[in-house]
Amino acid sequence: MPKPWFDKGLQFKCTQCGNCCRTHDQYAYVYLAEGDVAALSEHLGLDRAAFLARHCQEDEGWITLRIDEPACPFLNEENGCEVYEARPKQCRSWPFWEENLDRATWEGPVAKCCPGVGEGPLIPAEEVLRIARDTERWYEGS
Ligand code: SF4
Ligand code: SF4
Repeated sequence: MPKPWFDKGLQFKCTQCGNCCRTHDQYAYVYLAEGDVAALSEHLGLDRAAFLARHCQEDEGWITLRIDEPACPFLNEENGCEVYEARPKQCRSWPFWEENLDRATWEGPVAKCCPGVGEGPLIPAEEVLRIARDTERWYEGS
């Protein structure tokens, strides 16, 4: 396999600005795999049907969190996540998603949305790719 453009790793450290929990053009959806639905329902003390009715919508066959402009309803005033322990895989793995890892996307819209890009330690390429692959598999398995 050819080496990725970031073979020395990608610099990233979350500044906890909450920006990725707000709507930004195409970054307006949090897709939920079945495991996410189960974890969030349990965390909130709701059964599946009640959780789906209260917090979700459907987008082209996918269940997504209902994100009301301008932010996820679970984002609190201190930029913290109210469901942090049960937050969806998509939130856990940002910004290391496969579709973010080509150079133009990483240095363009991803860096624009996320001030943590280019900060902090270098995350090794193997770790970045492992997170991205693991996230893809999570959604494929749902
Ligand atoms: S946008 Fe980036 S720096 Fe801000 S909370 Fe999200 S991951 Fe952290
Ligand atoms: S679930 Fe939590 S981490 Fe995910 S978008 Fe909402 S507030 Fe952010």
